[in-house]
Amino acid sequence: MAVINRIAEFYEEMKTWRRHIHSKPEVGFECFQTADFIKEMLVEFGVDEIHEGWAKTGIVAIINGKGEGGNIALRADMDALPMDEKTNLEYASTHAGAMHACGHDGHTTMLLGAAKYLAETRNFSGRVILVFQPAEEAGGGAGVMVEEGLIENFNIEHAFALHNLPDLEIGKFETTVGPLLASVDDFEITIHGRGGHAAHPDHTVDPILVSVNIVQALQSIISRNVDPLESGVLSITKMNIGTANNVISNNGEIVGTIRAFQPAVRKMMISRLKEIVENVAIGFGATSEVRFLDGYPSTINHPESVEFAANIARKVVGNNNVNENATPTMGAEDFAFILQKCKGAYLYIGNGESEKLHNEGFDFNDEISPIGASYFVGLVEASQPLKS
Ligand SMILES: [Zn+2]
Ligand SMILES: [Zn+2]
Repeated sequence: MAVINRIAEFYEEMKTWRRHIHSKPEVGFECFQTADFIKEMLVEFGVDEIHEGWAKTGIVAIINGKGEGGNIALRADMDALPMDEKTNLEYASTHAGAMHACGHDGHTTMLLGAAKYLAETRNFSGRVILVFQPAEEAGGGAGVMVEEGLIENFNIEHAFALHNLPDLEIGKFETTVGPLLASVDDFEITIHGRGGHAAHPDHTVDPILVSVNIVQALQSIISRNVDPLESGVLSITKMNIGTANNVISNNGEIVGTIRAFQPAVRKMMISRLKEIVENVAIGFGATSEVRFLDGYPSTINHPESVEFAANIARKVVGNNNVNENATPTMGAEDFAFILQKCKGAYLYIGNGESEKLHNEGFDFNDEISPIGASYFVGLVEASQPLKS
């Protein structure tokens, strides 16, 4: 198959779209201009249905194939990061404090490229559900769309997504069966002690002493509770306690993150954290509160979807350029919410030599857009072939 010729033909067009989106990055759920642009393109391509307002600015579009068939979803994220761009590119961000430093401009472009081709050719049966989601970086836009009924409303049977990967060569894909990315659960702990004069600690319950003991004790979760053959991360990343040399303060705050690949490990770490915080605090005569902020589950690829997707990727880039045994990382991805509800797989596509993701010098490589778009099209045409 290689890159589909027709898609290669609109490489320049895709480049224009990508650079346009890149120059107008939007953060979180506020992807209004991006959504307007996507809608404009989809109307031009002649897709059959456009559903707006999913997770505020998300778009779900439908392309009908020929005859009855399945419902495959292809997903792209469209949000940028809250940071300033330092690339000096002619199409650099024109929005202060926002930058497409994770390549979601490119992910959106690859899906638009596939949409254009699929709407034009319709060499498939059933329907394609195109999902453009906001708030991947924070806020879990995909999770919100799932809660709003994405999977049930469109009868999605399986879903696929791509993320670019710096330093993976152009023309290569990688993924793995099972967990590819970790769950993330950020937490905030408040310790309520009793403040007073530093000269009379006996009249106080010192939240600093309580907190350092909690931080120490929490390290036992990884070393003593997690199965040595499993993985987990618990990092304390911020402590905020105290005001002056001679004052013992009332309260303290401890902030951090938990990451794991296996749902059971995630669950155990969360409950052990709560038990340790509560009981260590009690041991010192303090009280505590633990709050978990909106977490992401781990991104767990379904075995048969990986096999299917890897075969399609091989048809585009060749047999030796698809690695199905990539090493998982402790990053996170909200496509995980979709994979909790239906089958599917998340793959990396090589961005070639580039700055790292989330770096102020990063740029998505336009050369890979036709490869990603051809892969998306291949998934559709192979999973829902035309019936003769
Ligand atoms: Zn990112
Ligand atoms: Zn990303």
